Amino acid sequence: ILSCAAFAMAVLLLAAARSALRRVPLSESIRDALWRREFHLVYQPVVELKTGRWVGAEALLRWRRSTGEQVRPDVFISVAEESGVIEEITDHVFELVTADMAGFFESHPHFHVAINVSSIEIQSPDVVSRLTKFCAGVTGANARNFVIEATERSLIDPEKARNIMEEIRKLGFAVAIDDFGTGYSSLCYLQTLSTDYLKIDKSFIDAIDTESVKNDVVLHIIALAKDLQLRLIAEGVENAAQATYLRDRGVEYAQGWHFAKPMTCRELLSSLGRQTAE
Ligand code: C2E
Ligand code: CA
Ligand code: CA
Ligand code: CA
Repeated sequence: ILSCAAFAMAVLLLAAARSALRRVPLSESIRDALWRREFHLVYQPVVELKTGRWVGAEALLRWRRSTGEQVRPDVFISVAEESGVIEEITDHVFELVTADMAGFFESHPHFHVAINVSSIEIQSPDVVSRLTKFCAGVTGANARNFVIEATERSLIDPEKARNIMEEIRKLGFAVAIDDFGTGYSSLCYLQTLSTDYLKIDKSFIDAIDTESVKNDVVLHIIALAKDLQLRLIAEGVENAAQATYLRDRGVEYAQGWHFAKPMTCRELLSSLGRQTAE
């Protein structure tokens, strides 16, 4: 009877410990995970539609917990933004890119790596010095080897964001507005915004050939980019029909599973090595 009670007690304790574990806020787990180095980057090629050449790659963050569980970036990035650990995450991304890309640009001077920077950070001037420091630390790299992606959705304070984006571009970095078309920036604001690329959100690409109304939106975005002399990157291109549609209408660049899925740094570098050899 005694051992039976002890067993029941142990089970109860275990259950309590487990539920306590579950109650650890995700934001704290993120700090812990940074410390344990549970993050790594994968890179998705950016393709020039006319030639099929890989001209760059977007760095995308992956979190694999010690339990083996993968946490999706859309989940942990929004928690990080709300809880104020986003700068630590971005600094860690800088560190990972610095290690992954050391020396790489010496043999690929025209290649770029795109980095997602939270729009919260784009509101704060110290992002400029953080970027300067980051770029100086990447062996063989120049600011023009990097594209800084900021989502349109949260460019809340347009005035502030505009000035900071201008500073970033003055340093030689390119700037891209991510998820373009899903936010609420007014055209007037866009006209004065300092940016190089617009990334057409996947939802508009999905609709090509199926929903004519959204097709119209893609055509409007293309016309707008032409007027404002901005370059377009289509995201989430999943089939040849979409790729052809975009290419024929003058969209220069695309990303998507049709061309390549996100891959490890090693896979990227060895594929690029093969492409150059061809
Ligand atoms: P995003 O910046 O819009 O990145 C594009 C997302 O679309 C990526 O998801 C990518 O894997 C996925 N994708 C690319 N091509 C296709 C396709 O053909 N079909 C489909 N269905 N999906 C495709 P991922 O890697 O899960 O990232 C989700 C979001 O998390 C990103 O959206 C970005 O907003 C955020 N994120 C990822 N890494 C970072 C990071 O290092 N820093 C910050 N601040 N945000 C990040
Ligand atoms: Ca992005
Ligand atoms: Ca995007
Ligand atoms: Ca997106």
